Amino acid sequence: MYKSILVPVDILEEELTGNAVKHAVYLAKLSDANMRLLHVLPISSAIINSYALGYPELKDKASVKAEEDLKKLVDSIDLPKGQVSYSIAFGSPRDEIAVVASEVAADLIVIGSRRPNITTHLLGSNASGIVRYANTCVLVVR
Ligand code: ADP
Repeated sequence: MYKSILVPVDILEEELTGNAVKHAVYLAKLSDANMRLLHVLPISSAIINSYALGYPELKDKASVKAEEDLKKLVDSIDLPKGQVSYSIAFGSPRDEIAVVASEVAADLIVIGSRRPNITTHLLGSNASGIVRYANTCVLVVR
C-alpha cells in the first residue's frame, strides 16, 4: 500500500515523537515501505554566516544536536537499515515538509499532535499547516 512514509519529527518532544514513530514503523512494516525522518530547524544567523563565508560545514550547535538526536532515533527503529533514512531542513516546518515529501515521493505523512486544548482547538499550528499544505494523506497520531 504505502511505498514512502515521511515522518516529520519535533525531536525535542520525545513523547509526541515516539508515539508518531510507533505508528509509522507499524505501517512501514505492513507495506514494506521506506521511512524518512525529518526535522526542520529555523534558519539561524550562524548557518547563514557559515554559508556566506563559504564554510557550509561549520554547522551551528542546534543542527549538530538535531542530527545526533535523529541518528539515535533512527538506530532505535526496528526496521532494516536501508529502509530508514533521516534529514534536516531549514525554514518553516510546513514548507520544508512539503518539499521533502515530494523529494521522497511520500505517499503518507505521519505527524504527532498535542492533546487538543482550548488555545489550539483540535490541531496546533504546525500540525494544521502540514495537513493543509500536504498533497498526500496525513495521519495525525494522538
Ligand atoms: P503545534 O503545537 O503547532 O501543533 P506541534 O509541536 O504539536 O505543533 O507539532 C505537531 C507535529 O508537527 C509534530 O509531532 C511533528 O510531527 C511536526 N513538527 C512540529 N515541529 C516540527 C519540526 N520543527 N520539524 C519537523 N516536524 C515538526
